[in-house]
Amino acid sequence: MTTGIALFSGGLDSILAIKMLEQQNIKVEAISFVTPFFGAENAQKSIGHTNAKLHIIDITERHFEMLKKPPHGYGKNMNPCIDCHALMFKCAGEMMTELKADFIFSGEVLGERPMSQNRNSLQVVAKDSGLEEQLLRPLSARLLPPTAPEKLGLVDISKLPEIKGRSRKPQIALAKEFGITGYPEPAGGCKLTDPSFSKRLKHLLEHKKKVERKDLELLSTGRHFFTESQVKIIVGRDEKDNNRIEELCSKDDILLTIDNRPGPTVMVPKEIDEKTLEFAAAICIAYSNTKPEKKASVSVLNDNKVIKKIVTFGIAKEKVKGLIL
Ligand code: SF4
Repeated sequence: MTTGIALFSGGLDSILAIKMLEQQNIKVEAISFVTPFFGAENAQKSIGHTNAKLHIIDITERHFEMLKKPPHGYGKNMNPCIDCHALMFKCAGEMMTELKADFIFSGEVLGERPMSQNRNSLQVVAKDSGLEEQLLRPLSARLLPPTAPEKLGLVDISKLPEIKGRSRKPQIALAKEFGITGYPEPAGGCKLTDPSFSKRLKHLLEHKKKVERKDLELLSTGRHFFTESQVKIIVGRDEKDNNRIEELCSKDDILLTIDNRPGPTVMVPKEIDEKTLEFAAAICIAYSNTKPEKKASVSVLNDNKVIKKIVTFGIAKEKVKGLIL
């Protein structure tokens, strides 16, 4: 039986690409890659529209190495889409033997995204991933150079659609034909395309030599302040943030929490000077419901133990606005 590996985002294009090949009795193994920048939620939601088995693979390390210096550069924000696609296809290619696959395919559509899905980018991705002719884009295959699955007669491309451009009408019509409803909207889902997230990531790359996974996870959690003494103070905005900060905290971090009333969980590195630690405590109080004229007590914890208490006033939020990343 012919088997194809699908790069599966869970969006309509990738669902349709699978459906078109399943119609030709091709077995599909779907892969969704995850990093702290994008997850597999949509893929998990959408896989039921197909008969494919979903494999979720974490590529954080390889992806982050590429992200620091993508050969083809970034898009509008910190999104290195061309190199990201090439890496994903490369990783999928490495699974071909294990999954007994004959080729790789995706739901990419020629001209749908001006930067990453123009004719040249699609070719660059095929070349850089090392897949070259093994890579099929079923939705636009009739408009692109012939690939190995077509030449070997594994896929009949005359039965595939001829979709190109940004209009979603052909895909929506096909979805109707297949009876597919409730699929996720295109785009969204990748934090690297978000301007505020990208600003934080850029700052992290510029200011921290050894970036850990936790640093990447924390980029989308809480308010981030960067002090004159070059210390990052992360302040939870709500219970969800507070819990996440506590989860990601290690022995190399210090947590600050206000005593006897609700307030944010604040994270700072263990290597912090006294003055900045007091400043962090003042920020912790500022974001609780303590009145400005009242002092409050803040517990300072390391490795789940209270190592000291700081009693001080909260700082006026306007005074620290300029430090927000
Ligand atoms: S939007 Fe994000 S996940 Fe998608 S190709 Fe670009 S960088 Fe990769």
